[in-house]
Amino acid sequence: MSLSPRLYRELKTITVMVQIYCRNHHKSAAIQANALCEDCSGFLEYARKRLAHCPFAQQKPTCGNCTIHCYKKDMQAKAKQIMRYSGPRMLWRHPILALFHLLDSRKKSPEPSHQHQKK
Ligand SMILES: [Zn+2]
Repeated sequence: MSLSPRLYRELKTITVMVQIYCRNHHKSAAIQANALCEDCSGFLEYARKRLAHCPFAQQKPTCGNCTIHCYKKDMQAKAKQIMRYSGPRMLWRHPILALFHLLDSRKKSPEPSHQHQKK
C-alpha cells in the first residue's frame, strides 16, 4: 500500500514525534524508528495502518482536527500524549515538518465521502 505525498508527510511527522517522545520517556536510543521501544513501535505501526486507510488522503487535516477520529480509545490517548509532548519540541529539530503540520492543522476536514469504520 503506497501513501499519497500528504499522508507520507504525516507519517514522517508522527514518526519524528514518537521518536522524540520515546527517547525522553523510555530512554530508548531512538534515532531510527526501529530503535523505538516495543510499546512505541507498536503505536507507530498502528498509526501507519490508520493513515493508509484514511479516506481524506490529500485533503487530510491533522488528526487532532479530524472529524473522524479513527483511532481506538487507548491509541487516541497515546497519540494525544505524544503530540502534546513532542509537538513543541519538534519545532526546533524539524522546523519544516513542524511548519507543514501547523499549516495542515488549520485546514478544516472535509465531509467524509463514506462512513469510516473504527477498528
Ligand atoms: Zn517508547
